[in-house]
Amino acid sequence: MSTETFEFQAEISQLMSLIINTIYSNKEIFLREIISNASDALDKIRYQSLTDKSVLEEGGDKFQIDIIPDKENKILRIRDTGIGMTKADLINNLGTIAKSGTKAFMEALSQNAGDVSMIGQFGVGFYSAYLVAHKVQVISKHNDDEQYIWESSAGGSFTVTRDTVNPALKRGSEIVLYIKDDQLEYLEERRIKEVVKKHSEFISYPIHLHTVAEVEKEVSVEGEEEEEKKDKVEEVEEDENEDEEDGKKKKTKKVKELENKDEVLNSNKPIWARNPNDVTQDEYNSFYKALSNDWEDPLATKHFSVEGQLEFRSVLFTPRRAPFDLFETRKKRNNIKLYVRRVFIMDDCEELIPEWLNFVKGVVDSEDLPLNISREILQQNKILKVIRKNLIKKSIEMFTEIAEDKDNFAKFYEAFSKNIKLGIHEDSQNRAKLADFLRYHSTKSTDELTSLKDYVARMPEKQKKIYYITGESRKAVENSPFLEKLKKRGFEVLFMVDPIDEYCIQQLREYDGKKLASVTKEGEIEEDESEKEAFEAKKKDFEPLCQAMKEKLGDQVEKVVLSDRITQSPCVLVTGQFGWSANMERIMKAQALRDNSMTAYMVSKKTMEINADHPIIRALKDTPSDSNNFANIVNMLYRAALLASGFSLEDPTSFATSIYEMLQIALNVSSDEAAVAEESGVTEQSVEEAAAESKMEEVD
Ligand code: ADP
Ligand code: MG
Repeated sequence: MSTETFEFQAEISQLMSLIINTIYSNKEIFLREIISNASDALDKIRYQSLTDKSVLEEGGDKFQIDIIPDKENKILRIRDTGIGMTKADLINNLGTIAKSGTKAFMEALSQNAGDVSMIGQFGVGFYSAYLVAHKVQVISKHNDDEQYIWESSAGGSFTVTRDTVNPALKRGSEIVLYIKDDQLEYLEERRIKEVVKKHSEFISYPIHLHTVAEVEKEVSVEGEEEEEKKDKVEEVEEDENEDEEDGKKKKTKKVKELENKDEVLNSNKPIWARNPNDVTQDEYNSFYKALSNDWEDPLATKHFSVEGQLEFRSVLFTPRRAPFDLFETRKKRNNIKLYVRRVFIMDDCEELIPEWLNFVKGVVDSEDLPLNISREILQQNKILKVIRKNLIKKSIEMFTEIAEDKDNFAKFYEAFSKNIKLGIHEDSQNRAKLADFLRYHSTKSTDELTSLKDYVARMPEKQKKIYYITGESRKAVENSPFLEKLKKRGFEVLFMVDPIDEYCIQQLREYDGKKLASVTKEGEIEEDESEKEAFEAKKKDFEPLCQAMKEKLGDQVEKVVLSDRITQSPCVLVTGQFGWSANMERIMKAQALRDNSMTAYMVSKKTMEINADHPIIRALKDTPSDSNNFANIVNMLYRAALLASGFSLEDPTSFATSIYEMLQIALNVSSDEAAVAEESGVTEQSVEEAAAESKMEEVD
């Protein structure tokens, strides 16, 4: 017998010692995790058998889970007739391959945000066995390999051995838990039943509990009668009476016998096949938890059936919070389980539901699809397309129901706003409906989020468009110069500070017949009719300054124009209507693996807008445009405006240097001090600039 030893992947090892030592009290969830794995393994073999009957040859076609407590030896066995694991599977799946959930789970635990019962969601549920066991064996038989034993008492390593000692499983796995002395309750029939009822009621395979009970039996002492009485044990006493009447009294005695009991613990009539009126919310909740590995009740439930040309039933759930890896695209999603006439087909059918709904969990049971349907056929299947359309429709209905309760919707929005926005980006048919779910802070709604509907209701009559500003954070946009004039005019501006808002808004374009307009883009703001004439006059007046500034700035800006959107800042930089906003430029630059070829087209030429009423601009108007001072000030204004408008500086150091120079001027730094400054790298030009001191003060 050759035993090989393997080291656990470092984080898994850490997780195991954390689990084995935890004082966490709700240890019962281990059984849910082990049963859930058994159920997954059964799903897999059953699915294979739909297209290839021969996979059942060795292990038979009974799909079931057996729980076998052994009090005497303090062992709990959980056996399944599922797909089993090869030697390589045992090594890979149970300890050597890193899983992203391991670290995420430990982090969640340490942040107090969660408890051990969350483990299943993080894809490391198996290790919860160590909540109650000091040693675990996994005996497993896969069709493609011999039977092997995986074994570990934690401590950083496990062994794998070819199994020559245990009875043959033929196919499937047996998890052998050596129960800790303080956890012996999990060997008690009553306790096991309770835990299975609570967590595994809706597992779609029968869960058998095998117990051995001592029963008292009365048996006849006369050997020849024994045969005839055998199946009437309970009636012995009555028999005695009858016998007395017959006058042939027989002697019986009481004996203790061990009786094997085999009891099915779960109902396993599928919940979706029942009438919604007969299902309680508690039942839906238990079903949801078994289905999703979630430890919390769902936020919303939708149970429906579709009849007519095509028939299917479905139960959908919205979870209470987003999983840790919601947008980890490499991970296959398995949130909607597809059944055909009560038989599980698959849990990763991409065609069933779009990516933006990847957080909705549930089941679909079709009456029309063929049982032995292949993945390839599913891809172009018309029935599936109709099902998909209905799932989207019903999901949206479910969200609308959530939106009826403000607190619930707040939870929903916090968890899944990104999905809604992705949906708006991708699903042109449902875009308008989904826009109703959007919520933003705004210049008029600073404490609570506002819907577009409420925004529109608040719009002054003269306002025609819905205004928004995109940026890195609430703080960054809240005091943006772009809001100055609009605030004054009483126009509300929405704050869009999630990167996905940029994508979402590109597609949304309008709501309730009103155009969505970015306040940082050119030509988007409606003209203020009341000031039109005065503005035109000013424009003329400042035309020479605009031209002079453009000359100094060269290619950095497309043009310099008089602004109608700022009242307090001297200037801002706006982008073209169809190019990227400053925020989008920032997002795109932050994407390390991005293809750069688009950048040249999409980075907008910037237009500098200046504020005719600002003292700096007014003073600048009177500064000779061929002076050194004019050039320096225009350059400073440009760079400051870049920052205030949400762009990043190409050369922040030179900007900082210019600021230091100005500080030097402001502080009246003497010439020897300036010499020190020169040594530390400030250029000669700065000394010249110092001469402009008086001018700068005027400007202030
Ligand atoms: P998850 O179930 O989320 O994948 P677990 O930690 O519960 O994570 O299980 C790890 C892996 O071990 C499973 O993905 C599966 O490949 C394997 N496994 C566990 N239990 C069984 C079983 N009873 N039969 C077959 N494979 C199993
Ligand atoms: Mg699991």
